[in-house]
Amino acid sequence: MLAFVFDEGRTRLRRDYPRPDPPPGFVRVRMLAAGICNTDLEIARGYMGFCGVLGHEFVGEALEGSFMGRRVVGGINFGCNVCEWCRRGMSRHCPTRSVLGIKGADGAFAEELVVPERNLLAVPDRVSDEHAVFVEPLAAACEIVEQLGDVERGPALTLGAGKLGSLVAQVLAVAGFASDLVGRHMENLDWIAQIGVRRVGERPDRDHYGLVVDATGTSEGLKTAIACTKPRGHLVLKTTVAGAHQVDLAPVVINEISVVGSRCGRFEPALDLLAGGRISVAPLIDARYPLAEIDEGFAHASRRGVRKVIIRGDCRGT
Ligand SMILES: [Zn+2]
Ligand SMILES: [Zn+2]
Repeated sequence: MLAFVFDEGRTRLRRDYPRPDPPPGFVRVRMLAAGICNTDLEIARGYMGFCGVLGHEFVGEALEGSFMGRRVVGGINFGCNVCEWCRRGMSRHCPTRSVLGIKGADGAFAEELVVPERNLLAVPDRVSDEHAVFVEPLAAACEIVEQLGDVERGPALTLGAGKLGSLVAQVLAVAGFASDLVGRHMENLDWIAQIGVRRVGERPDRDHYGLVVDATGTSEGLKTAIACTKPRGHLVLKTTVAGAHQVDLAPVVINEISVVGSRCGRFEPALDLLAGGRISVAPLIDARYPLAEIDEGFAHASRRGVRKVIIRGDCRGT
């Protein structure tokens, strides 16, 4: 089958990749659409030590099991199912987990993939294939609200207006925060005001925000994030970045800022938001490529300021 793999330090589309054979508890899924995210680009630069089929944001059709014939999305962390984390429903922290297309498990940029059946969720009819591709990054955005619990719904700032930041800012607005967004690529973001997100200029107010989310993954972004967090506020770090930050942490101590690391989230709240039409994802799609042309799609996604590039298996469109 067609599969887009990273090995020996480079990506390439293979036409002879063996169809996956599901281990016990796994089911085969036919890929309908998949999204390219920054993690894929980082893997392709050799940062994560992964080798295999790339891709972790997907919607597909289950080819067997209790979801057979239905459209599904799937949690990307494949836990051992016996450790304490897995028993508490948090396989995303299982110490021996594999992660779809990221660590030890072939991913979604292929005609077929295999996923643990317990990781699957059916996609409601009113959510299109292309929108369902956003469930994984949207779940990561929803995780912030879950982690913060009932923190005061005051002014919130998201730094980074890219693929993830523009989802985070929307989720915060829907959750009741006065949600501001700042970033380098603010063009084509007029629509986001309709969700209740306010775009602010390059220099957001210092010491003003009770909640600041850094989705830039840069030292500069982190510095600004610390400066904008008001005393006793929360600072959420939303992006992993290759390389080490050099940042002065004194203001974190002086202002008693709570720093929260945040990665993946549960899919249920994200699917609910998409099904309810409360989040807008269509404007975030930059381009679509069939799997057979994923090389071009990947090059497109690597350009600066490009938002979501969708790879189509056999996609129903929007
Ligand atoms: Zn991703
Ligand atoms: Zn486990």
